[in-house]
Amino acid sequence: MRAHVDLNVCQGHGVCHMSAPDVFELDPEDGHSIVVVDPVPPHLEAAAQLGADSCPERAITVERTVRVD
Ligand code: SF4
Repeated sequence: MRAHVDLNVCQGHGVCHMSAPDVFELDPEDGHSIVVVDPVPPHLEAAAQLGADSCPERAITVERTVRVD
């Protein structure tokens, strides 16, 4: 899974970070969300989805990646 934050939409509420601190951090400069795991490891996929679902601006998209192993 990969997670992406649209910085043109993100308003820096920080809800994603509160929901999934291991996936999303907040840029200390501008408060925008940063994805800190790329790709998102399997054990954090549920957290990433939760963070995306919790964003009031719908700024986060998550994309399931196909595993080839
Ligand atoms: S919850 Fe959404 S708007 Fe708020 S910091 Fe996270 S991505 Fe940005």
